[in-house]
Amino acid sequence: MTDQTNLAPDALGPTLCIGEILAEIVATTTGEGFLDPVPMVGPYPSGAPAIFIDQAGRIGGSAAMVGSVGNDDFGRANIARLERDGVDVSGIRTDPVLPTGTAFVRYRHDGARDFVFNMWTSAAGALGWTDQVQAVCARAGHLHVMGTLLGHQSIWEITERAATMIKARGGTISLDPNMRKELRGDGETGRRFAQMVGMADLLLPSGDELYLAADLPVDAGEEAALVRLFQLGVKEVAIKRGVQGSTCALPDGTRTHAPAFDVTEIDPTGAGDCFGGAYVACRRLGMLPEQALTYANAAGARNVTFRGPMEGAGTRAELDQFISETKRLT
Ligand code: ATP
Ligand code: MG
Repeated sequence: MTDQTNLAPDALGPTLCIGEILAEIVATTTGEGFLDPVPMVGPYPSGAPAIFIDQAGRIGGSAAMVGSVGNDDFGRANIARLERDGVDVSGIRTDPVLPTGTAFVRYRHDGARDFVFNMWTSAAGALGWTDQVQAVCARAGHLHVMGTLLGHQSIWEITERAATMIKARGGTISLDPNMRKELRGDGETGRRFAQMVGMADLLLPSGDELYLAADLPVDAGEEAALVRLFQLGVKEVAIKRGVQGSTCALPDGTRTHAPAFDVTEIDPTGAGDCFGGAYVACRRLGMLPEQALTYANAAGARNVTFRGPMEGAGTRAELDQFISETKRLT
């Protein structure tokens, strides 16, 4: 069964991602917050869905984005980056009034992050179902869903409609839970999460998210959680394990592990999204799990060696070079 791809082939149409597009400004000194002036660098193109889709396009997958930016340089820089990396940007609208969303981020000494966001009160929040969104959904072959966005009403409405349309034309769905425990219990968001797990062909959890998706306690064990997910109809699970690499699990019992690469982390933001973008693109291009995991680990690792959330997203050639030059952790 490992020689089969559980995701709709690239030829069916682009992988679609829906959500926030942001400009990110990063403090260049570590410490707490922004109460005093700090040196900063940016703007960098950002937003988790944008990072995911940029990596998917950059590695050579067919990719498209639905989002909203302002009529300003932050918006133009984001669109230019996605276009450069081969992403179909026809589903990105430019709001005539609201500015592009922003995220100011500063790392603390222990690696925790302090943020100042302007997200849903910016152009990013002014997203709705337009003719352009309809058109891109009508030709998409796969939808990648961000668990972080399930609590956001207007994005949910687009996501649910897109998921139904894409499934109906033989497309597939992946879900990165990126979900905190507390949200599972939260009525409507928890219900949407369960609905998306039920619709997902591929799940991309990290940490406890595997158990959250399976709706089992952490002490149930990884195998029990995987079996439960396969019973729910999930066809493939790619588990992200940070410096411990990643594992692909299939319903027939196949488990494929790929070690992480040994790098010096400069900026951890975007690793999970680059992993996901590369993994989905590679599987849709017909690669076997082992090769897709290797590219995905490389994409995550390479990205953390660059300052800025998607500055290290790699082309296939860049990732091939990275793989040949970088030691693996065991
Ligand atoms: P995020 O915090 O972005 O949500 P995540 O928890 O979803 O991340 P991670 O497991 O942290 O995902 O990262 C995804 C993949 O990227 C890992 O499986 C690993 O291969 C690679 N990676 C991430 N950080 C590092 C690192 N410091 N060194 C080497 N590889 C890394
Ligand atoms: Mg994650």
